[in-house]
Amino acid sequence: MRVHHIPLIQPLWDYLRLHHSQTLRSPLFPVILTVSSYVVFCIPYLVFNLMGRRWPFIHKYKIQQDRNPTGAMIFHCLGITLYNHLFYIFPAAVAQWYWRPPCPLPEQSPTILDIIFGMLGSLLLFDFQYFIWHMIHHKNRWLYKTFHAIHHEYMAPFSLATQCLGGWELVTVGFWTTINPIIFKCHLLTCWIFMVLHVYVSVEDHCGYDFPWSTSHLVPFGIYGGPIKHDMHHQKPMSNYAPHFTHWDKVFGTHAEFTWPRIDIGLMC
Ligand SMILES: [Zn+2]
Ligand SMILES: [Zn+2]
Repeated sequence: MRVHHIPLIQPLWDYLRLHHSQTLRSPLFPVILTVSSYVVFCIPYLVFNLMGRRWPFIHKYKIQQDRNPTGAMIFHCLGITLYNHLFYIFPAAVAQWYWRPPCPLPEQSPTILDIIFGMLGSLLLFDFQYFIWHMIHHKNRWLYKTFHAIHHEYMAPFSLATQCLGGWELVTVGFWTTINPIIFKCHLLTCWIFMVLHVYVSVEDHCGYDFPWSTSHLVPFGIYGGPIKHDMHHQKPMSNYAPHFTHWDKVFGTHAEFTWPRIDIGLMC
């Protein structure tokens, strides 16, 4: 008899599959998962914004030291996020459920390596897709004004600006985040973990802080841009189009180096 190697996280998957199958198969599960992780990831950064200079040990990591979001900016972004979820995300989830009804959960869990490669592949592919989309939406004046300008209302990004997006951009981004793990034939668990990871890196890109534990410092050789790179895109919008990694901007000559401490350049598109 052949002995099958049991993945390390099989017990966790069995528990989820046997006890929470109804929840996991619900069309709303991915929406609830991403919305709740978005809120959880944004809260600490909002607290840092609120405390500002009263917490110098945190504020010293702020990329644009003199630009903190105001209450009006926070409420504006919250309003747009709520609107987008009601009119785009929720209908998209229902449509997906209609066209792709919930399938039975597979018995076998993925291995840790499956998850790592699935996430890495999906993130690299997303980085390329968004790089092209983003560059086109900056080069074409009509596309920029109609779809992407809303995201550039703030020169100093803060966590809630992550989803301060036009509906078309949000649907496109959501589509790639959903479809990429499917392209790589990832396990459902990997798809969900990728969704949460993607919410995290997107919020981190916009957080406005360059902490020592920022992904750009954890990934070696400067291959990952992280918050400092995307912050530069908000200051100087004709550069740094790739959301996460640095290679595409280097290949296409749109890479802008980040200097520290930063001087505001004031080049709004
Ligand atoms: Zn941005
Ligand atoms: Zn942009």
